[in-house]
Amino acid sequence: MIDTSSLSGLRMRLRPEEPLAPRTTWRIGGPARLFAEVEDVPALGGLLRWAAAARLPAIPLGKGSNVLVPDEGLDAVVFVLAGELAAVSIEAPLVKAGGGASLMSLAVAARNTGLSGTEGLSGIPSSVGGAVRINAGAYGTEIFDLLEEVTLVSRVGEVRVVPAGTIPHGYRWSALCEGDDVVASATLRLRPAGRDEIDARLAEVREKRKRALPTGPNAGSVFKNPPGDHAGRVLEACGLKGLGVGGAEVSERHANVIVNRGSATADDVRELMARMREAVRARFGVDLVPEVEDLGRTVTNRPGPRSVESPR
Ligand SMILES: Cc1cc2nc3c(=O)[nH]c(=O)nc-3n(C[C@H](O)[C@H](O)[C@H](O)COP(=O)(O)OP(=O)(O)OC[C@H]3O[C@@H](n4cnc5c(N)ncnc54)[C@H](O)[C@@H]3O)c2cc1C
Repeated sequence: MIDTSSLSGLRMRLRPEEPLAPRTTWRIGGPARLFAEVEDVPALGGLLRWAAAARLPAIPLGKGSNVLVPDEGLDAVVFVLAGELAAVSIEAPLVKAGGGASLMSLAVAARNTGLSGTEGLSGIPSSVGGAVRINAGAYGTEIFDLLEEVTLVSRVGEVRVVPAGTIPHGYRWSALCEGDDVVASATLRLRPAGRDEIDARLAEVREKRKRALPTGPNAGSVFKNPPGDHAGRVLEACGLKGLGVGGAEVSERHANVIVNRGSATADDVRELMARMREAVRARFGVDLVPEVEDLGRTVTNRPGPRSVESPR
């Protein structure tokens, strides 16, 4: 048993051995040794300091839409941002969202105050924190296009407000992917617009996504697009649609998506991804880079705490 008594009094809820599969869109994975819902910045800092002292990896989980959790679970404290850290507040044209807020709730709050910009991102089943970390994007908008600043909490609980322009970022990547900082909140600068215009754009995005995405538990694109091409195109050209390993199957609708047919294990997904990569390497000489993150590797390969440099 781990001693969590020093965390009492902080705004968080703790649960040992919490199953993680229901918290991922793949519906795969075993339990977290300790699971926490943290509700404000002091609680977040306290939990991170406690985990560092206990030498336990601390892993933020957003909406679980880009992660593979190992079947044996994670010997780690896995935490989600809730309460104040999932709230959205608006001082037009700026919108501040907690790292745990969903992109949909952000888009709805912006729409309700006549602010445009987030419509393209609205259908990504992501938290704000997860989206900032990987610079999520869709239909011509990446979240860094809109970002003004982010509040980061380091693994020793240090809080820094960092201008977004000072954080290196690119396609499905930001420097935050290389470090351990937690995105506690993000401020976006939006553009005033009429609600009819925003609603029309939201409906258009909703329709496009409905047509493009497979049904069944999945984690969206499993590989990043290679330079100048589409991962879906090269995977489809290799004839991989419908290829299965155990309960995991390459979607018939989109060759860059793996669907859990109900009984898939993390090992099934890993093996299927390895076969997909190998097929593309053999046929096109292209080494696909995974977009989904295997949290089993994150925990076992975890180096010491690293932060994004604060601007001087
Ligand atoms: C059906 C479907 C469609 C998708 N469509 C798109 C799309 O159009 N465009 C796109 O870009 N992506 C898409 N994705 C992928 C996914 O939604 C994004 O990568 C998303 O940004 C992941 O966010 P999350 O909150 O689910 O993060 P999680 O999957 O929970 O976590 C991903 C990583 O971020 C870390 N993390 C989570 N929260 C924080 C935080 N607050 N601070 C620091 N690190 C954190 C986690 O530790 C983990 O390393 C799709 C996924 C699905 C299932």
